[in-house]
Amino acid sequence: MRISIIGAGIAGLSAAAYLSYAGHEVTIFEKNATPGGRARQWVTKEGYVFDMGPSWYWMPDVFDNFFADFGYKTSDFYQLVRLDPAFTVTFGKGRQYDIPSGFDSLKSLFDQIEPGAGSKLEAFMKGARFKYEKGMQELVYKPGISLREYADPALLKGIMQLQVFSSFHTHVRKYFSDPRLINLMEFPVLFLGAMPKETPALYSLMNYAGLLLGTWYPKGGFGMVVDALVSVCEAQGVQFRFNAPVERILAENGLVTGLLVEDSVIASDAVIAAADYHHVETKLLDPAWRNYDLPYWKSRVMAPSALIFYVGTTKRFPALKHHTLFFDEDFGKHALEIYKQPSWPSRPLFYVCCPSRTDPGVAPPGHENLFLLMPLAPGLLDEEGTRETYYHIMMDRLEEHLGEKVRPHVDYKKSYCVSDFQTDYNAFKGNAYGLANTLRQTALFKPKIRNRHLPNLFYAGQLTVPGPGVPPALISGKIAAGQVHSFFSKACV
Ligand SMILES: Cc1cc2nc3c(=O)[nH]c(=O)nc-3n(C[C@H](O)[C@H](O)[C@H](O)COP(=O)(O)OP(=O)(O)OC[C@H]3O[C@@H](n4cnc5c(N)ncnc54)[C@H](O)[C@@H]3O)c2cc1C
Repeated sequence: MRISIIGAGIAGLSAAAYLSYAGHEVTIFEKNATPGGRARQWVTKEGYVFDMGPSWYWMPDVFDNFFADFGYKTSDFYQLVRLDPAFTVTFGKGRQYDIPSGFDSLKSLFDQIEPGAGSKLEAFMKGARFKYEKGMQELVYKPGISLREYADPALLKGIMQLQVFSSFHTHVRKYFSDPRLINLMEFPVLFLGAMPKETPALYSLMNYAGLLLGTWYPKGGFGMVVDALVSVCEAQGVQFRFNAPVERILAENGLVTGLLVEDSVIASDAVIAAADYHHVETKLLDPAWRNYDLPYWKSRVMAPSALIFYVGTTKRFPALKHHTLFFDEDFGKHALEIYKQPSWPSRPLFYVCCPSRTDPGVAPPGHENLFLLMPLAPGLLDEEGTRETYYHIMMDRLEEHLGEKVRPHVDYKKSYCVSDFQTDYNAFKGNAYGLANTLRQTALFKPKIRNRHLPNLFYAGQLTVPGPGVPPALISGKIAAGQVHSFFSKACV
């Protein structure tokens, strides 16, 4: 069968690989010149290789499982380095902590910050591990179409332990009271999704993934993951069309018939739309065939956008770790300014990644490759002057942290913000990570992976199941491919 896929992000690449492996004729149409979507790389003429989006390689088992499905090992494509410290958190001058990769050292650190917190961490992680194993082995692979998928006695028995209905905020405070430990546990949900009060405690599985399974780095950067996916696709015979924005999804008699791409009609027996769901529905589909109307989208809680700076320096900074979280300002206030009163933050938290500390190959010799990211409410105006103000706010604090100047050594600088997400990826409100991980937007309540009116149109990517992040996007492609497969199996009966 001829299957067209819209978007060469992680989800589109994953779906294409599975469908081509199953024997279909698969073509991916991508509006940009290169694959990877939000996980693209930006290579400069000065010799810097910037990962434009993801930098935290968590849940290595999900990547391993993907490659294994095609008879490969992850190490066939790239080398993984386990970071130790996994990351550094600074709560202000002289109050910084390296988060070790070993669990015993991590427990000692927790005890040092709050007496007795080491054993509480052990108890917290016991529950988090259960959620990770149940969640990542069973829940995330469900298409989220019907309640019946969850009517499995073993799953129902464990549902209370999964803590889908209690809040992450309350859950963390049952174990820890020191604000630094609370911030440390809450950062993955805040940066990737929603206010901890509105996030189900289920998401403590992220703490298990980050603190126990490890923070890894693919040598060469995340671009190596994208190259690996492209290689898997090519080996299965997937065709790529770059600089090929899809303009319309065509349908007749209740079925998708093809795509309109640069004034040409591409006949298709099924389509997977792996571009932003909102864009697909509002720009590519006739109103009669949409799953959701505009009020639906208006009522969605989006995950943050971001202000990013890709910076190259002619000097190296040995005191800087691979990942540094700047939690030297009020966590709650910044969260409010992202989720409740959308505005440019008064005193932002932010994050600095310096992959050249681990991998000098991503910068010219003797240089450093820096990525500064500040989470931001989606939909804000992002004029050059505003971006520049925040560049200096972040740089002031980075320089104070390092005890030396960075700005005089900058020989490359590029900013990226809300409007760039909109232009480059057709991202709704310029979101970086899709929908917030609130209870009302989890699993069954996410935008559906199948179109209600056109049975051969499917969706994949971070706005549908299972959600944002590179591992979920890989899984999303697999689920969507499975749905296409069952559509054709039913059609043949
Ligand atoms: C700044 C940032 C940091 C992140 N950090 C991490 C991290 O550390 N770890 C992690 O796991 N995840 C991280 N993420 C999340 C992760 O990168 C995403 O969840 C994932 O890459 C999304 O993949 P996707 O395939 O769903 O979407 P996308 O990557 O957006 O892919 C969709 C593709 O569709 C294309 N497209 C759009 N419209 C059309 C059209 N009309 N025609 C043709 N093509 C079209 C787009 O150009 C794009 O290539 C981060 C994301 C961002 C933005």
